[in-house]
Amino acid sequence: MEKGNFKVKMKPELSIRSYLRQQQALFGRDIYISRPKNNQVGRKDKAGNSENLDIYNTSICLCQECGLGKTRNSFVFGIGDPNADLMLVGEAPGKEEDLKGEPFVGRSGKLLDNILRAINKKRGEGVYIANVLKCRPPNNRDPLPSEVKKCEPYLLRQIKIIKPKLIVALGRVSGKTLLKIDVPLKDMRSKIHNYNGTPLIVTYHPAALLRNPNLKKPAWDDFQWIRDQLNSRESING
Ligand code: URA
Repeated sequence: MEKGNFKVKMKPELSIRSYLRQQQALFGRDIYISRPKNNQVGRKDKAGNSENLDIYNTSICLCQECGLGKTRNSFVFGIGDPNADLMLVGEAPGKEEDLKGEPFVGRSGKLLDNILRAINKKRGEGVYIANVLKCRPPNNRDPLPSEVKKCEPYLLRQIKIIKPKLIVALGRVSGKTLLKIDVPLKDMRSKIHNYNGTPLIVTYHPAALLRNPNLKKPAWDDFQWIRDQLNSRESING
């Protein structure tokens, strides 16, 4: 505390007392204590995460590490809440995503948005969406192992920045590429895998649900499970 030109050193009890007196003068007999809420911490992180993702995107968006750099229209980095608990990972951008520069904007993207709405989520609020490959393979062919090798570190870095509680691989190709196992989707489903320290589950790709509506029920079971896990206070163990 400063008085005129003199610094007055106060005993801690006195400074607390004078602080309380000042609070009493301002607010009366009630004392308001601010306590950091989880979402306040989140908001602070979010600002940093958003910037870090932007910087990272800028640093890689001209990538020419594989042949897809020459054929793409857009480098589709990813979109959503930089502080998301849930990260959805598809296979690679399709035609519309390549034109728009955003993942899942075509028909399957609309279905994905509806599924998210049904579990009270939306892209950009608690959810981040990306793909294993950032560039569209010609004619939507499956990613080549050499392309995955070059591109996967980008996804890993995104995950490191966002730190989601749960990753959901959309479809067999995304699942097998991330988990490095070549098994049918049914053998990857309904299990919590560990993807470099983050719990990961595999569910149907929305495009598969459009082709085969019978898969909507099991997919809905998966998303209800996802919702419950994210709502539960316990951490998800991979
Ligand atoms: N399919 C994917 O796997 N990703 C997209 O972004 C669009 C369709």
